[in-house]
Amino acid sequence: MAYPLSNRIKSLPVSQTLAMAAKARELKAAGKDIISLSLGEPDFNTPDFIKDAAIEAINEGYNSYTPVDGYVELKEAICTKFKRDNNLHYTPNQIVVSTGAKQSIANIAQVLLNPGDEVLLPAPYWVSYSAIAILCEATFVEIPSTIDTDFKITPEQLEAAITPKTKMVFFNSPNNPSGTIYTEEEYRALAKVLEKHPQIYILSDEIYEHINYGIKSFSFAAIENMFDRTITVNGLAKAFAMTGWRIGYIGAPDWVAKACTKMQGQITSGTNCIAQRAAITAVLAPVEKVQYMVDEFKSRRDIVLNLLGKVEGFKLNIPDGAFYVFPDISYFFGKTIKGKTINNANDFSLFLLEEANVATVTGDAFGAPNCIRISYAASEDLLRKAIDRIQKAIQS
Ligand code: GLU
Repeated sequence: MAYPLSNRIKSLPVSQTLAMAAKARELKAAGKDIISLSLGEPDFNTPDFIKDAAIEAINEGYNSYTPVDGYVELKEAICTKFKRDNNLHYTPNQIVVSTGAKQSIANIAQVLLNPGDEVLLPAPYWVSYSAIAILCEATFVEIPSTIDTDFKITPEQLEAAITPKTKMVFFNSPNNPSGTIYTEEEYRALAKVLEKHPQIYILSDEIYEHINYGIKSFSFAAIENMFDRTITVNGLAKAFAMTGWRIGYIGAPDWVAKACTKMQGQITSGTNCIAQRAAITAVLAPVEKVQYMVDEFKSRRDIVLNLLGKVEGFKLNIPDGAFYVFPDISYFFGKTIKGKTINNANDFSLFLLEEANVATVTGDAFGAPNCIRISYAASEDLLRKAIDRIQKAIQS
């Protein structure tokens, strides 16, 4: 039966990352030995010093609504962090704290995009960017890249994609799903193009900032002339192992911050008060306090690259950040393995789930139909086991 749902929800695709994670959970609950490498979620515990701050907040009686845009102490702490890590000089009225970076991004899109506006998405891009643009009835325009250019776009490609309707471009470095990091020079070259098009606003998603393996990521807003046109998005989920705490934030021109606060005020009010109090401790903590997780991710990355690099048909680049590998697996297209014909990345991801019991995410979801995403935010044991299973499934 067709339910009388709105056109809006009918036109919205399901989040493929969350759908695959749910499917893996379901199969596990049904007794299948699934290794889920689908979700981008650190498998560490939130550090004790952050948990203690949350417990303290509960005991101190923090239980009321917070200001819609976040506690002022948290916004000040975020300004300190932006100065310390990114050389960005925001003031508290330019900060909005939200229920995860996902809500931050949704807010920005809602307050800047009109139906028919174009949003440029350098591909591969995180699944929800396109969905969020669709919700605003904007058109998303993919700027493709391949593994051969380390999944980076060029200034010429950016220039060619711009039309009079272009309103925004979304950058994400370190990138989910490819792990690619744009250097300062590369970002400056892209900024040169944008200088000629003052009507375009830039969303710079820096949620994986601290998860890098030597190449420090650079904030787009730190480029002269770009500060007033860039909205910097960040959050605590990835570097602090706080996915479920749902704390994201932006640094933005004050008129954008004000509009996001107005939007949020009608949709969720402020973010959870306990998580916000703990966030003050987290953002002010020296980054070295969470370096042990980054070191562990790096060691896992190296193991995965080494083992997966030996599997026939997996073409890999070296991701400099985040915790994903994004192999090009187009080698398998048109081949039949175990009676299953693989025509695309979707088929391949499904094949891995059914024949290797390993959950991954199809590259189609990220605008890169030749690839699949494998999250290595899992224990070394599980990663070794998963790659062994993949190898065996393919060899058969
Ligand atoms: N950002 C993570 C991922 O890409 C979490 C799931 C989601 O929100 O998409 O896997």
